[in-house]
Amino acid sequence: MSRRLFVGATVWAGAACVPRQTWLLLEGDRVAGVGSQEEPPPQADAVVELPGRHVLPGFVDVHLHLSQAAWFARGTDGWSWRTLGEALRTVQFAAAASPQAPWLLFWNAARWTWPQGRLPTTAELEAVAPGRAVLISTVDMHRGAISLAGLEAAGLAASGVQAALGNDLGRDRRGRPTGELWEAAFGIALQRALADCAAHAEQSGPGTVLAAEAGRYLAHGITHAHDPYVAPDRHEQMLALDGASPLRVSWATGSNAGMHSRPPGAAGAPDGPYGQAGREVKLFADGGDRCAIQLPSRALTGLLSGAILESWRLKGVGPLREALRRKTVVGPRRLHTPYLRYTDAELADLVTGYAAADIRLRIHALGNLAGAQAARVLRQVGVAEGAATIDHLMLLDPATADAVAESGATVSYQPGFLPRYGPMLTGSRADRYATVFGGRLLADAGCPPAISSDHPSGPLDPLGNLRAAVDRQIGDAQALQPDQALTEREAVRAATVAAARSLGLPGGGLAAGQPADLVVCTGHPFAPGTRIAQTWIAGDQAWPPLAGDEQGL
Ligand SMILES: [Zn+2]
Repeated sequence: MSRRLFVGATVWAGAACVPRQTWLLLEGDRVAGVGSQEEPPPQADAVVELPGRHVLPGFVDVHLHLSQAAWFARGTDGWSWRTLGEALRTVQFAAAASPQAPWLLFWNAARWTWPQGRLPTTAELEAVAPGRAVLISTVDMHRGAISLAGLEAAGLAASGVQAALGNDLGRDRRGRPTGELWEAAFGIALQRALADCAAHAEQSGPGTVLAAEAGRYLAHGITHAHDPYVAPDRHEQMLALDGASPLRVSWATGSNAGMHSRPPGAAGAPDGPYGQAGREVKLFADGGDRCAIQLPSRALTGLLSGAILESWRLKGVGPLREALRRKTVVGPRRLHTPYLRYTDAELADLVTGYAAADIRLRIHALGNLAGAQAARVLRQVGVAEGAATIDHLMLLDPATADAVAESGATVSYQPGFLPRYGPMLTGSRADRYATVFGGRLLADAGCPPAISSDHPSGPLDPLGNLRAAVDRQIGDAQALQPDQALTEREAVRAATVAAARSLGLPGGGLAAGQPADLVVCTGHPFAPGTRIAQTWIAGDQAWPPLAGDEQGL
């Protein structure tokens, strides 16, 4: 077995990720040892000199939509659109430029920054792209706009289907679809569009598209990507990717219909393992825009005046109209948004079935009401410690954080959302009444969170996400709830060791006997100019790719 010695670097060592200047020895696919004070470096077959560099455990991203993000290059990024008109002009241009494309796909629409505050209607899409299947996805991947041809292609035009989708499908007063899609309806349209694109790309093969996406992650220092939703009929593709790419890949299952649809139960879950982790299923306790939050009733005036200010700032009624459309139930002491996707009994039923089959649970809970429900149901069902992960917990309060810790669930959150959604959250004043991406609150409650990206909803960049967990910047040198910051060591641990453990993997960091998955940074990981220099997986350099004669050293 070959022994490789890294010298001259600062190694973020052990499960606690403590930085110290020392050597690191790899033997085969494992870490053989990390130097302690004054210990001379051992003999090795090859010495890698890394003066001034920092060596971290490989980044484990436990919420990374690899199988969806791989197709983004086939669509158009709508992040920079600032009005509805800009969006429609881009659709018109794309329709002319790609006459053969089965779908015209647009991502990352931040409609809350538009004066109109809403997405295009079927009539508006028909006017600029007649007869074409168009799907515009908002940045949170829970809401979208679809054209008439898109409704047909996605099987959403039949009245029976429409009735079953209820409020997830927007309708006008006469019951005709407006093209507005929410949650399950959006997930179904997205799944259909991606399947059609995959069929259309048959010449190069979907494997090429997935492998290119995996390669991009390696360049960012990610050694393990966990996709929170892969349809059962796509598992084969992911298994092929796991075999073909040095990237470690794992995923959760769900419904074939789409990401936000109710999963079919344990009997409908393909056999495992799912890549490099055990079986897992994704459930949505609440939605995206339609997240389930609970705040003190006095928050109402703050939320409303926040929306009025946003409308004034953007010179349009959009934000105010959106705020008024959002269902809010106001009680004497508390208000809440009634957007839980399951009753406690329904959720408990699903959780019981999957837990009995030894399938891990990954529960999406953006709002504190959903987080509290997830924790309550996990405890009630008696799910074993570490057998569930609660994802996001964007809005949190101390009681809910305690309930989450008591549930025995691990938690993954996305500090990278702070720059992206922070201004919206402060604009709506939600941050006055709840903790936003409360890393410190979770850690203090005894539930140290894993950092994940939720790419493409959040930025992929793991170094950027680490820094966001510590500096909590939302632009204009403004930090959002800086008391919720993690320390640098905690952040590194959250993106590596804690993340691996949350998937039931070893997660001992850079220590003897652990997998030799690591990242070499050009300098201190929290210094702004630092980049990824190398990514190593199982003792081999995975990025940048080696030339033929450098391999097998
Ligand atoms: Zn996600």
